[in-house]
Amino acid sequence: MIPCLSCDKPMPKLRLEKYGYKVCVECSQVGQYKAITTVNGDKDDTWNDIQFVSEEEFVEYNKNRENNGGKSETPKQGDDPSSNVPDKE
Ligand SMILES: [Zn+2]
Repeated sequence: MIPCLSCDKPMPKLRLEKYGYKVCVECSQVGQYKAITTVNGDKDDTWNDIQFVSEEEFVEYNKNRENNGGKSETPKQGDDPSSNVPDKE
């Protein structure tokens, strides 16, 4: 094994000698575009869509999905009654 030039993690020497990669698999994937499936619409009127996003956006997307408990729904705006409660004086 030889160290990856980018992250110093061990990677197969064969990867450099045979394929000419100086970085490991993880590092070589940076910058690649990912496809994510999004669900649009509401209730009975939904459709799936595929979006191509950058690696960074893909990570953000997955983070947001985890924060939403695995759901890919976008929060509705103006539907939160607590945000419209006037301040008490
Ligand atoms: Zn690496």
